[in-house]
Amino acid sequence: MLKLFLPDHYVKNIFEINPLRLKSKGIKGIITDLDNTLVPWDVKDATPEVIEWFENMKQNEIKVAIISNNNKERVKVFSEPLGAPYFFSARKPLSRSFKKAAKQMGLKREEIVVIGDQLLTDILGGNKAGFHTILVAPIVETDAKITTFNRRIERSILNRMRKKGMITWEK
Ligand SMILES: [Mg+2]
Repeated sequence: MLKLFLPDHYVKNIFEINPLRLKSKGIKGIITDLDNTLVPWDVKDATPEVIEWFENMKQNEIKVAIISNNNKERVKVFSEPLGAPYFFSARKPLSRSFKKAAKQMGLKREEIVVIGDQLLTDILGGNKAGFHTILVAPIVETDAKITTFNRRIERSILNRMRKKGMITWEK
């Protein structure tokens, strides 16, 4: 059970995720969360660094799709200028949007890595659907209300995983 919340990797931010290393592991696509993974939840547009990150992935032929539980307006305004396919109101951790994205990318589960800042939505959803998963540290600590509740559960899961020696990083 606990294993479903365990990401394959942990990074401080998306910029530690290198397209060449992904490629060497057979990864051809990324499904990424938006809020607090790419930018703070209250920042509307991609930063120059994020735009460059998307460009870098593209140049290395890694496809990137954005899946968010946030609403259409938020996800559309952010994603369209990046030219990235996007899925809003995704209801992660449910598998539906993940599978839809994979299908649209034309890739197999094992060729895709799911990236996100929340165990209860991004990592659980990605693991359940059979993708690789990378947990990133949330960009900001403040969050929407529902997330505050999820974070409390997340902390207790992380503590249990740490006690069992399943994870080694510090948050
Ligand atoms: Mg998030």
